[in-house]
Amino acid sequence: MVNAAKPGHRLIAETPFSLLALTRHHVEPHEEHWFARCRADYLRSFPLSLLELVRVTLLLWLVGPLGHPLFTFAALSGWAVVMAAQISVRRKEAQPGFDEKLALKYRYSVIRLRAGWWFGVIFAGLLIAHPADQPSLVALALAMMAVDGVSSIALPHLALAASISGGAATVLGLLAHDGLQAAPIVAVVLMLCAFMHWSIYNLYYMFATRRIRTRRLSESHETIQLLLNQYDDEGSDWLYEIDADFRIRNPSPRFCSACALDSGTLEGMSLIELIGSPHEAADLRGLLAAGQAFRNVVVPVRVRGVEHWWSLNGRPVDKLQGNGPGWRGFIADISTAKRAEAKVTFMAHYDLLTQLPNRTLLNATLERAFTRVSADEIIGMLYVDLDHFKAINDSHGHAVGDCVLAKVAQCIEDVVRPRDMVARIGGDEFVVLMPNLDSVDAGLLVAERIVEIIGTSIEIDGLVMPIGCSIGVAFAPHDAATGDELLRAADLAMYDVKSRGRRGISIFDPEMQTQMIERRTLELDLRGAILRKELELHYQPLLRIETGEVVGFEALLRWNHPTRGAVSPDTFIPIAEETGSIVDIGQWVIRTALEDAARWPDHITVAVNMSPMQMKDANLLSVVVNALGSSGVAAHRLEIEITENLLMQESEGMLAVLHRLRKLGVKIALDDFGTGYSSLNYLRSFPFDKIKIDRCFVSELAEREDCQAIVRSVIALANELKMTTTAEGVEVHEQLEALRRHGCDQVQGFLYSQAVPASELDFGNMVQRRVAGG
Ligand code: C2E
Ligand code: CA
Ligand code: CA
Repeated sequence: MVNAAKPGHRLIAETPFSLLALTRHHVEPHEEHWFARCRADYLRSFPLSLLELVRVTLLLWLVGPLGHPLFTFAALSGWAVVMAAQISVRRKEAQPGFDEKLALKYRYSVIRLRAGWWFGVIFAGLLIAHPADQPSLVALALAMMAVDGVSSIALPHLALAASISGGAATVLGLLAHDGLQAAPIVAVVLMLCAFMHWSIYNLYYMFATRRIRTRRLSESHETIQLLLNQYDDEGSDWLYEIDADFRIRNPSPRFCSACALDSGTLEGMSLIELIGSPHEAADLRGLLAAGQAFRNVVVPVRVRGVEHWWSLNGRPVDKLQGNGPGWRGFIADISTAKRAEAKVTFMAHYDLLTQLPNRTLLNATLERAFTRVSADEIIGMLYVDLDHFKAINDSHGHAVGDCVLAKVAQCIEDVVRPRDMVARIGGDEFVVLMPNLDSVDAGLLVAERIVEIIGTSIEIDGLVMPIGCSIGVAFAPHDAATGDELLRAADLAMYDVKSRGRRGISIFDPEMQTQMIERRTLELDLRGAILRKELELHYQPLLRIETGEVVGFEALLRWNHPTRGAVSPDTFIPIAEETGSIVDIGQWVIRTALEDAARWPDHITVAVNMSPMQMKDANLLSVVVNALGSSGVAAHRLEIEITENLLMQESEGMLAVLHRLRKLGVKIALDDFGTGYSSLNYLRSFPFDKIKIDRCFVSELAEREDCQAIVRSVIALANELKMTTTAEGVEVHEQLEALRRHGCDQVQGFLYSQAVPASELDFGNMVQRRVAGG
């Protein structure tokens, strides 16, 4: 839109030509009708009767002194005709739906008609007038021109034309009557005409610009209002007003919906009362009382029980709509951002999977618990570690693993008191912090219930998960003076459970600390054990029950520690597994066992134990092949013993390695059969050549019926699957006889021989004699 009166636009015309510019203004095409109505309204704004009264008075005053009846009659008839035309136009205009542009056309005609009549009256009047009457006639003509000009400035060109015709009639009449003698008065008339024309243009200019400017202003006001309404309706922000007493005034629909209140309720409510926290409410009151503008003041608000966060902006205003002073501004609902922020904070302190506090929050809570602790208060801590969790994760997938963790978390939460804290501090590690315990026993009771519940009730899809847990328990102030120490004590106690074969509870004992230190030193010592030639293989014979002949030997590792003497493999193998040195040690075992076996009779086999970690070693296959090659021992004489433990971590890669070893001719034996769970399942997962029945079954074979039943069915199943069976840990003759009765193939145990160094092996009939002779 181009405004008629732009800043810088010359408002007052300085030359006659620029006068024309005053009639130009920018009316947009869509505004033409409106502007036509403006013009018509202006023309209509003069009461017809008043105008005509003025006209007829002036006319009578003009024609009266002339005393010319015909002229008087003609002039009055002309006036009557013009008035009749005028009235008819006004009538037409009064009809509903009348087109304003058409009305203007009629008006033009009327004005033209009047101009013609007026020209005639003045011209003829001046011709017939006495010289003495001329001045009054001229004055009346000019007065009439002024009346017509002003009453029709909405149509400036016509007003001008009318006034020009009046002026021309006057000048021509004067000249025709008096010739050049009339020159002075003609000059005066022309000057007055020029002034009148200039006035008409200026008045028109004021008329047009005033209307256009007013319209543009109200238009832009409407646009702003529209934008503000839209902002209010659609945005997440809304405008607000409060009065000097902080009461809400004229709440917008958006404000109402943000508060879930109707405008009647919200109107007059205190803004401060809406705020959900007294602290923030007081802050805002202080800001408002200071009477200064404020920005981004964040306050919590409860809407229908849900917490929202608003960011307030406002500035004091002198006058609200109709009321006194107050504040005006806008409010933004920043709840989403706040919630995201809260989530980040939550994530920093909680575990998302279980919704339990994480290690950070546990540490902070521990620290607080210890700063506030009273002398006689007992703080208990349980360090809970899941058993076989990795196996479940590997075999059932991570989704099931996550489910298990979430359920375990729930189970532990259900067991503890509300004031206790359960935290998840690692993959499958949880900690229970129990401040203010009544007694040590109360803490132990919780531990027992956790072991019980986790061992029996973690169900996924109706299946009870074969999972258990090991719990280390420690108490402050007895076992620890700080939170850190307490956590470490409980961890050590948990470790103790693990090292004793998992599933159970262990209470912290300072001895554990010593053991841990010892373990660390062993760890360091073990690193150089191969190079220092401290490792040695001992061999324990395996005999065929039927004949009593030695069929092979199991290689069992021995560590001759320089200061500690013989260290049991049960002690150092787990360390080697943990530190990874088992891979090097295992390779050494394979090479040494095969070198030794090369010196034995060709029909004697050699069995080597294999740790899970070794099976994952990419070099295993080539190590075996090379060792077989360099020793010259036939592949079928090598037996590799793996445990169920290893199969629980079942992976495609591991099974592939086993298959390839078997293809080479190497025999694969399932060691410690029966000590894990769902052992029978594993029998079907790989075509083992041999099953070694664990010595826990053998040791109680004579006394326990159930052991006999298990051993009997294992042997039957192995026979069916064409697998050899070897019973381990045979110590007494009764066990041997029972095994023989059940159809076991081979035996191994102290009844014949312990493991002995390779140099002491005697291939004579020492063993054979004892089997046969009992
Ligand atoms: P394992 O594979 O079950 O080995 C049999 C264990 O039972 C040996 O203990 C052996 O001395 C013992 N034993 C044999 N007959 C009897 C008996 O009649 N009564 C009793 N009470 N025990 C008997 P050892 O040598 O202490 O080995 C313990 C474990 O260490 C082995 O259990 C095996 O899992 C592991 N191990 C030994 N050598 C190696 C090795 O070279 N590599 C790997 N990865 N593990 C090994
Ligand atoms: Ca073994
Ligand atoms: Ca075994």
